[in-house]
Amino acid sequence: MKIAKVKCKNCKAEFEVLENFPKDLLVCPGCESKEMDFEITEEEFTGCGGSCSGCSSCE
Ligand SMILES: [Zn+2]
Repeated sequence: MKIAKVKCKNCKAEFEVLENFPKDLLVCPGCESKEMDFEITEEEFTGCGGSCSGCSSCE
């Protein structure tokens, strides 16, 4: 699973989601715009790093 970078076209806020995040649910946390750039990176999502007691990304 890779990380996708999302950038708001309106206020330029950037954040990261998983590559399989449904794009139609993307809403900017800053301005609530739905005009987002979505770009999959080469970074692998490594889950919680093992600090949990077995979340879905650790199984
Ligand atoms: Zn925004």
